[in-house]
Amino acid sequence: MTADLEAQLRAASLRVTRPRLAVLAALRDHPHVDTDTVIALVRSDLPTVSHQAVYDVLRALTEAGLVRRIQPGRSTARYEARVGDNHHHVVCRSCGVIADVDCAVGHVPCLTASDDHGFVVDEAEVVYWGTCPDCAADRISQ
Ligand SMILES: [Zn+2]
Ligand SMILES: [Zn+2]
Ligand SMILES: [Zn+2]
Repeated sequence: MTADLEAQLRAASLRVTRPRLAVLAALRDHPHVDTDTVIALVRSDLPTVSHQAVYDVLRALTEAGLVRRIQPGRSTARYEARVGDNHHHVVCRSCGVIADVDCAVGHVPCLTASDDHGFVVDEAEVVYWGTCPDCAADRISQ
C-alpha cells in the first residue's frame, strides 16, 4: 500500500520520507481534515514528528500537486489527497462536514463566465452549501 504512495512522491520528484508517506496515507484514509487532525493522525504512526514537520510536508505536497488544500468560506484549511479531477465540495453550514461532489464537466473552469472581461479564466470555485443529513435529522427531531 505504501508502494503506490512512494511512487507518487517519486513521480513528483519528492524524496520519499516517512513523514511524507504518513501524511499522504492519513489524507487518503481521511479526506478533508484540518492541520491539527493531520498531525494527530500522523502521530499515531510517528509519535515524535513535530508540528512544523507536518506543516512543511503539507506545504511541499500541496505545491507538488499531490495534495489539494481547500478552504470553503472562512473555515480553516482542509487537505485531501484526491487531486486532479476538479471535483467540488458540499459543506454543511451547521457542523462543517464536507463531502465530494463530482464535477459534471470534469475540467477547469467548469462554469463559463457570462462576461470574462477579457481575462483568461482558469478556475471557477464552486462550493455547495447546505445541511447534512445528520443535522437535518436533528432539526426535525427538535
Ligand atoms: Zn451537519
Ligand atoms: Zn474533496
Ligand atoms: Zn465542475
